[in-house]
Amino acid sequence: MLENIRIILVNTSHTGNIGSTARAMKTMGLSSLYLVDPVNEPDGQASALAAGAGDVLANAKIVNTLEEAVKDCGLVVGTSARSRTHSWPMLGPRDCGEKLVQEVSKYPVALVFGRENSGLSNEELQQCHFHMCIPANPEYSSLNLAAAVQTLCYEIRMAYLNRETYPEVEEVYPLNEDLERFYVHLESTLEKTSFIRKSHPGVVMTKLRRLFNRSRPESQELNILRGILASIDKSVKASDEDASQASSLETTDEAAAQTTSQGRN
Ligand code: SAH
Repeated sequence: MLENIRIILVNTSHTGNIGSTARAMKTMGLSSLYLVDPVNEPDGQASALAAGAGDVLANAKIVNTLEEAVKDCGLVVGTSARSRTHSWPMLGPRDCGEKLVQEVSKYPVALVFGRENSGLSNEELQQCHFHMCIPANPEYSSLNLAAAVQTLCYEIRMAYLNRETYPEVEEVYPLNEDLERFYVHLESTLEKTSFIRKSHPGVVMTKLRRLFNRSRPESQELNILRGILASIDKSVKASDEDASQASSLETTDEAAAQTTSQGRN
């Protein structure tokens, strides 16, 4: 169960933090570590700080993008020390541990940690269903990366040890790659209807992502939404074809009229 809870570090600079993360994970029973585009790959410093968790470090998967790391996950939580993320559905560390443990029997779930100097980008945060902030000292709320990982892994362990006390979720949620496909489809349909312009999509897509994240559609609901988009695409195509037929008829009529008048001359 705990092996399907994925800890993802994005673009980490210090290999020591990668090693300390491996140790923080193993002490709490977690083993699945993903490194998204690390500045430096794990080295001797990482191994030294991993200590007895060398196996977690050795099995870490290195991928290029966050999208790749979360595509098969049904629940993705992004972490941030900053309040800018509060416009997104928020979880505290305890709820976060419980939610991850409640859903992990259905699909892999992920907890995403940002860069030491700048955290996660807005684009990365938008790929997460929830954001999680450790309510630290407001005057200095930025924990060391591996310390933040340790805090959350502890909460996950507590939730895991108490797992009998809360029910498993019954809803079936789509995987991240299905959600991403839906957003691509939505954007393309909104371009076809001219609701948004390709070169200037503005903030509409961000707001829509936020809306769908908040309501968290189940798999069946997402299928209905995809069906609605497909039906809009079809009717836009049909009306485009009607319009182009009408204009080619007009051109033929004009050409015929010209030929007739030339004939008269
Ligand atoms: N200066 C960065 C902080 C980076 S700390 C910023 O302003 O965003 C590195 C990472 O540790 C963060 O991206 C986050 O994943 C985690 N982290 C640090 N403090 C945290 C807190 N209070 N709550 C949640 N995550 C935190």
